[in-house]
Amino acid sequence: MKASLEKLVAQLSQQRQHFSTPCYVYSLKDIADNYQKLKGRLGTSLIYSLKANSCLDLVVRSGHVFEDGVEIASVGELNLLPRGESPRYINNPSADKSFLRAAIASKCTLVIDNLSQLEIVKEFQGKRPINPLILRLNPSTLDQFEKAPVTTRRDHFGFGWSDVETALAFCKKHELKVAGFHVFRGSYNFAKLAFNTAQAALQIVEKFERELGYAIDLVNLGGGFDLNWESIDFNFEQYRELLGEFPSHIKVAHESGRALVASAGYFVTQIRYVKSIEGQQYGICDGGMAQNFLLAKTESTFKRFSQPLILRGDEILEFESSTESCLLVGTSCNKEDVIGEIKGGPVQPGDLAVFSNCGAYNASYTVAPFLSLPSAKSYLME
Ligand SMILES: *Cc1c(COP(=O)(O)O)cnc(C)c1O
Repeated sequence: MKASLEKLVAQLSQQRQHFSTPCYVYSLKDIADNYQKLKGRLGTSLIYSLKANSCLDLVVRSGHVFEDGVEIASVGELNLLPRGESPRYINNPSADKSFLRAAIASKCTLVIDNLSQLEIVKEFQGKRPINPLILRLNPSTLDQFEKAPVTTRRDHFGFGWSDVETALAFCKKHELKVAGFHVFRGSYNFAKLAFNTAQAALQIVEKFERELGYAIDLVNLGGGFDLNWESIDFNFEQYRELLGEFPSHIKVAHESGRALVASAGYFVTQIRYVKSIEGQQYGICDGGMAQNFLLAKTESTFKRFSQPLILRGDEILEFESSTESCLLVGTSCNKEDVIGEIKGGPVQPGDLAVFSNCGAYNASYTVAPFLSLPSAKSYLME
């Protein structure tokens, strides 16, 4: 069993009264370990994508871990975050004038998505110091550099190629300093596309420097790391070698949410009642999709529910594998509110269900106010 899960089980067994369910529990050590491991393998800077988990305590307590900075996608996140030493990037296609103003005022680096945002930045020029800008490039801008085109799902983020050219000319004309560019080819795509992305980015560096007439200093190659990136076949050594081809004045960065926090988070809910309908057992929990939307798998056509560990007192239940199963359901009166499955059983009221890998997007991608249900508490473990 993973060390952080063992620790959580021990705490839940011995100090049950300290936890109010449903709750998330995050392991600070796991986050630090995940960060250092991934950064080490990449050999580059590594930026934390805050939207994966914006729990304030977590961000504050891990602030020193995220030494290369944090990327913020909303003004809410910006206000949440205490000002620290490490860089903060803001990036959102919909960022409006007031968000951009607030970001400039709090010394963030702007990752510009489109020409309209660039026009707004120009209006602020001279009024306040503006950090050199990063241009977000749409994944389609990489296509022209591919030897064998790869197909990726289209998305709406960043500049298309002809707008890149307009943007560079605009920045040059108005003396808006450009620090570099940022590409992101979507979640889960790292292993498949990283080499192509880096190769294209090498050529884009030349393009930027030629158009601007000066050296840029940051290339953010995005991320898209799997939760289990370590067990995926990917040649990091060869990748680091390729990254070595970037000119030495360029700082190369990657960015991740999922790979840093997903495995560091647990979701704990208590089974309140147990009942059986036509041979199907249900465990009715004090938390469900209203606190952890992703567990309900509403976005999968073929649902495979997570199988939590079941803790009764201080004992982890081992179920005989049987055809019997128990579905764990939540509190929302929605028939999709099934969050887990136990192969075997029976469970009983008071049992705790502990779900692993709930650190990324589970809390942040949950629609809270339905039925005025209480939101999940969050706790941190060392
Ligand atoms: C969300 C986001 C990420 C993080 O994606 P993960 O799959 O959580 O690693 C990285 N870069 C950008 C631009 C993002 O919007």
